[in-house]
Amino acid sequence: MSLILIHTDRFGDHRPPPGHPERVERAEVMHGVAAAWKQRGRIVQPPRPATRDELGRVHTDAYLKTIDATAGRAVSLDPDTYTSPDSRDVALLAAGAAIGAVDAIVQSRATRVLALVRPPGHHAERERPMGFCLYNSVAAAAAHALTLGMARVAIMDYDVHHGNGTQWIFYEDPRVLYVSTHQYPFYPGTGASEDIGRGAGAGFTLNVPLEAGSTDGDYDEVFKALVIPVIDQFRPELLLISAGFDAHERDPLARMRLSTAGYAGLTRSLCDAAERHCHGRVVAVTEGGYDLSALKSCLESTISVLDGAPAQSPSEPLRSATPRSRVAIAQTRSAHAKYWKL
Ligand SMILES: [Zn+2]
Repeated sequence: MSLILIHTDRFGDHRPPPGHPERVERAEVMHGVAAAWKQRGRIVQPPRPATRDELGRVHTDAYLKTIDATAGRAVSLDPDTYTSPDSRDVALLAAGAAIGAVDAIVQSRATRVLALVRPPGHHAERERPMGFCLYNSVAAAAAHALTLGMARVAIMDYDVHHGNGTQWIFYEDPRVLYVSTHQYPFYPGTGASEDIGRGAGAGFTLNVPLEAGSTDGDYDEVFKALVIPVIDQFRPELLLISAGFDAHERDPLARMRLSTAGYAGLTRSLCDAAERHCHGRVVAVTEGGYDLSALKSCLESTISVLDGAPAQSPSEPLRSATPRSRVAIAQTRSAHAKYWKL
């Protein structure tokens, strides 16, 4: 197993207004985690900016021009999404980090890559910014993998919010399996289990809406019943993770009850699936996660899982499943009965 991180201190130069949850301190947590990794003699690669061609695979030209026009300025793009003078350039580095992660894997420089980036990306749609996101970095990474000749790419999005941007970008594309677990109903409002993809892409969007209060046990049940079986049947050549840590019990924005150990368990089961299908190749790209101590512990445990650390028994027992997972599993199973054996 070889894990590299992609990160730069530049991710601290995107500065939303004071009081915004997607704050500069998140970058400082990432800097600390990257520095500790480097101190262990491991590789932290700086990102390059995404190119226009690379972003043009997932965003319209008009949209790219809109974001270009924010360069050097502080702009409010919607009630949640802001730029500061450096934000456009920093977001280009975030997308470039995700794309560079795919390159590192294709060029056999790593089998696992964690891109420690901000701003997040999964709410950004083809032609609109949304939910703190400017460019959809994970989508740009998936599109890059397709361009390099991969036939099947899976994206697992365990951020607590539904990744509407990623879903819509690949909604009709059977080459990209998009799987999301998210608090529902909740921001951004999308992500019902009946939203399964369209046309040739029908069946290749798998939404698992979960009620607030879902526990480690609930997520574990959902992974065992839905997420892993669908990934196993899809047989991806690369597994991408939209690694949002805002389903953590400490998160101030959402109301889920995942622990750090619970998150590590999810990541481990994704890595195991990647071992079965794609030589262990996993790219994780950070999304949300707004409690700084939870962000730090989740990044550290994700790194240790991606680096192949064996499972440790958690110091506290994981919270057991509740009826919430049963309801979600039944709904998603019935919506996908035509497409997958679940
Ligand atoms: Zn989120």
